[in-house]
Parts: sequence; structure tokens; C-alpha cells
Amino acid sequence: MTDGTVSLAQLVDWLSHFRDLVTENRAYLTELDSAIGDADHGANMARGMVAVTEKIGTAQETTVADLFKTVGMTLVSSVGGASGPLYGTFFLRFGTTAGAVTELDAPTLAASLRAGLGGVVARGKAEAGDKTMFDAMSPAIDAFDAELATGADVSAAATAAFEAAELGRDATGPLVARKGRASYLGDRSAGHLDPGATSTAFLFQALAGALAEA
Ligand code: ADP
Ligand code: MG
Repeated sequence: MTDGTVSLAQLVDWLSHFRDLVTENRAYLTELDSAIGDADHGANMARGMVAVTEKIGTAQETTVADLFKTVGMTLVSSVGGASGPLYGTFFLRFGTTAGAVTELDAPTLAASLRAGLGGVVARGKAEAGDKTMFDAMSPAIDAFDAELATGADVSAAATAAFEAAELGRDATGPLVARKGRASYLGDRSAGHLDPGATSTAFLFQALAGALAEA
């Protein structure tokens, strides 16, 4: 990062870091999903993000909107589980809001993240406390905005977002799931972290990592 903007290369780094994190933690995400789902979240996320990084390695997108259109469409088409369309919609809306630009300033990055969250809600109808990825994503984006409002740069804001995502993820442990496959378990879903909230913490860890690099 130079002069407070985020480049296309840094956004590609964000996606590569996310791929690495979900690939390294594939077994862990699957273990979480085996407790309250169908044991495929690690495979879904790793397959989806490997497909994304392969696709963008050859497609040579020139704007943020193009890049994230490819990302979103690849996730929707390569991941069978609920998480594919949900993350896919997150990235599609992120790109639409970012627009046909080659770099993002802090307010545009914030608005794009917020739009991505709106896409997840439009698609999955989750609310706070439903024990889903929303419970990590929403506080992360609130923290991102709050940190920017103090005058901090995007790198510090992304670190604050990652920390808030981890707290949100951890808070899903005792919750009873009200959305998705885990909701079929009723009260038995309590006592386990939500897999999607856990992968969302990796999404913000990846962003913080990508923006920390000059
Ligand atoms: P599936 O549930 O189809 O097997 P995954 O295992 O890949 O898909 O993803 C499960 C995760 O998806 C859950 O842990 C949860 O975070 C998220 N999820 C499921 N349904 C919703 C929803 N309606 N809104 C938001 N997130 C959801
Ligand atoms: Mg699953």
C-alpha cells in the first residue's frame, strides 16, 4: 500500500491468502462441519478458492469489478454447499460496489465490504445470533468502519476487522443454529463453533495480511 489506496494486486493477494488459509485449515473446517453439518465446509472452501485463484491467474482482469465478478461466479459454480452461493454473492456485490476501477480508497473498500455483507443477508436471510458466517462478518465490518472513523488507515482497519471476526466466531460456540444445515440439530448445535463463521475469520485474517504488505 502506498498513499492509503488498495491496489488490484493487493486484492489478488487477499484472495491468495484466503485460499492458503482455507487450504491449510481444510481439515479443521471439515471437523467443525462434521459436528453440526455434513463435513464438507473445508472441502467446499478449499476447492472454491483454488478454483478462484486458478481462474484469475489466467483471466487477467483489469478492474476490481471484473476481478470480483470472476471470483463470485467461480465460487457459485464450483462449490456445491450453501457457502458457495453465500461467499459468491459476497464477492459479486463487493465488486459491483467497488466498480470499474484499478484501486480502492478506504471509503470505497468499506462500502464494498458492507455491500458484500448485504449480499450474504439478501441470499441467506441470516440475522445476528443465528450462528452463521454473518456473526463474524457483521462485527468485522462494523469494526472496519469504526477504525477508519478514528483516522486509521485501511491496514489498521483490516486488523481491527480480523480481531472482531475472531470474537464473533468464538461467540457462535454456545449459540443454537437458526439457519442452514446446523439448524436441523436444534439445541444439539450448541457447543460447537460455526464453520462458516470460522472461515469468515480467515477471510478477514487474509485481508489484514494482504494490506499489511507494502
Ligand atoms: P452446507 O451447509 O450446504 O454443507 P457449507 O458446509 O460449505 O455448506 O457451509 C456451512 C456454513 O454456511 C455454515 O456454517 C454457515 O456459516 C453458513 N450458512 C448456512 N446457511 C446460511 C445462511 N442462511 N446465511 C448465512 N450463512 C449461512
Ligand atoms: Mg456443510
